[in-house]
Amino acid sequence: KDFRNKNKPNWCPGCGDFSVQAAIQRAAANIGLEPEELVVVSGIGCSGRISGYINAYGFHGVHGRALPLAQGVKMANKDLTVIASGGDGDGFAIGMGHTIHAIRRNMNITYIVMDNQIYGLTKGQTSPRSDAGFVTKSTPEGAIESSVNVMELALASGATFLAQSFSSDVKELTTLIEQGIEHDGFSFINVFSPCVTYNKVNTYEWFKQKLVKLSSFEHYDSTNRADAMRVLLEHNSLVTGLIYQNKAKKSYQEYIQGYDSNPLSQAKLTLSKDEFNKLIEEFK
Ligand code: SF4
Repeated sequence: KDFRNKNKPNWCPGCGDFSVQAAIQRAAANIGLEPEELVVVSGIGCSGRISGYINAYGFHGVHGRALPLAQGVKMANKDLTVIASGGDGDGFAIGMGHTIHAIRRNMNITYIVMDNQIYGLTKGQTSPRSDAGFVTKSTPEGAIESSVNVMELALASGATFLAQSFSSDVKELTTLIEQGIEHDGFSFINVFSPCVTYNKVNTYEWFKQKLVKLSSFEHYDSTNRADAMRVLLEHNSLVTGLIYQNKAKKSYQEYIQGYDSNPLSQAKLTLSKDEFNKLIEEFK
């Protein structure tokens, strides 16, 4: 299936988000999804535009709220494959509370963050993922705070699928997205997706020199949570690949009575118009 649509992305030439878009499209096609079986929900930011560039249902939501919307979609319609996406500012600043609770809730959706360590849409301010000392217009003397370590945080919050990739490595990213979609629970994939216009520090070259692929390790057991935390600590989280997966934990939906047999999307409205209007009046 072709998950491309006619919309031409208006990202800057060279932006990492192009490759993330391509990887999502390839993963959906490789899995054998139909466009009407996929929903991409996004937040606000350059990366938030992605929901309009994929031939599937798209919902461009409000800042930091991609995850609540995506979880609502999945709760209402079990038959949809749901991808939530956005940037590091969207997910790890205003949306951070949602991110942590979505991780521990373990609903069966995939969250892909395009992490460029800066606010691109608003023209280059320091983000929660910018490293200490990072100089922008919002921190002209250099950022004082250290970068939030989302990988360690996600693991500590009970992530059942944790992966990281680099937008240059579309092959690895596509495989991880496929694995994430097929994971029965919440899958969190952080993608280093360089902002070529405003971030002149964390460039493609910078990542090529710093990132270590887990597949290059002789022995790495992605089912061992202690090993996952150790590898993150030892490499300052600059690793790519499947970091941790726990297939034993049940997804949120498995605890919900009637989720499979009586989905909200197929529920019949049994109220008459008068009863419905009365109900609305009560809640005004
Ligand atoms: Fe991409 Fe940065 Fe341009 Fe936004 S400003 S489209 S993040 S390169």
